[in-house]
Amino acid sequence: MCLRTPLTLKVDCKMVFESIPTHKHDSPTLGDRRQAIARQIYRQLPGLNCGECGYTNCTRFAAALVAGDAETTRCPFLLQDRFKENNALVGEILSGKTGEEIKDAEDTEEEAGIIGLIDHLVADFVLSPLRGEPSCREDLHPFDIEVRAEVGDILRYRPWGCPITHFAEVLEVAHGIVTVHIVGPLHRLGREIEWKDAGLCMVIGFEGMVTRGDMPDVGATVRFLPEHCMMGKVHAGVIVHSEGDCVRIEGIDLKVW
Ligand code: SF4
Repeated sequence: MCLRTPLTLKVDCKMVFESIPTHKHDSPTLGDRRQAIARQIYRQLPGLNCGECGYTNCTRFAAALVAGDAETTRCPFLLQDRFKENNALVGEILSGKTGEEIKDAEDTEEEAGIIGLIDHLVADFVLSPLRGEPSCREDLHPFDIEVRAEVGDILRYRPWGCPITHFAEVLEVAHGIVTVHIVGPLHRLGREIEWKDAGLCMVIGFEGMVTRGDMPDVGATVRFLPEHCMMGKVHAGVIVHSEGDCVRIEGIDLKVW
C-alpha cells in the first residue's frame, strides 16, 4: 500500500520489496502463533536495530530465534548486564510459554506504554513497515542539490538531527524527494556494495503501519517510535493521511516536546 501525495510517483510495492537484497540470515514468514511469540521476544530485545546479530533488525532476529535458526548469544547487547532480565525472559518465552501467558504479557506491555530507548519519552504508537516491506518508508530531501539518486541506488546519509549514518535503498525519486527503505549500517549489507553519498538529508515524511498504540486521526500531532530506528528514538510529526492501519506522517521532528 502506498500513501503518496499526488506530487510523487507510484510504484509497485511488492516489486520493490522483491528487488531488495535480503540478508542471507533473514527468516521466512512465520505462522500466527509463532508471530505472536516473535513479537513478544522482539519486545525484550535491545531495539537498536544495529545488525550485529547478522540480521537486518531486531524484528528479524526475533523471528530467527523462534524459527530456531539463531541463538540469543548472537546479540552482544543481550549479554550485557542491563539486558540480563530481558535475556532471561527471552529464554523463558523460547522454552515454551502458553498462548495465554503470551497474551497476558502483551496486554501488560500494552498497558505499560511505548517508551523510547534513549529519551524514555512515551510514544503514541509504534510505526512498523507496510505489509511485506523491510522497513518503514522515509522521504528524504538531500541538502546538497548536486545529489543525483536513482531507483535501486544505495544511499549513505545522515538525517538532520540524528547522529547515526544510515544506508537506504532508493524506491522513488520525484520533485527532489527521495523515498527509501532503510537497509542498515554498512555491515548489514556486506562490504562489497557501492553507495552514493547523499550527505545530510532532511527527513520529510514516514509511511508505515500502526502496530501498537491507538490509531491517530488525520491532522493530529503525534509521537511515534519507528520500528527500525537504530536509537529507539521517539519522533514527532503530523498525520497527513491514513488508510486502514497505515499512515503517512510529515513535519518530522526529533525534538519531541
Ligand atoms: S540489538 Fe542489534 S544485535 Fe541485538 S537483536 Fe537487535 S539488531 Fe540484533
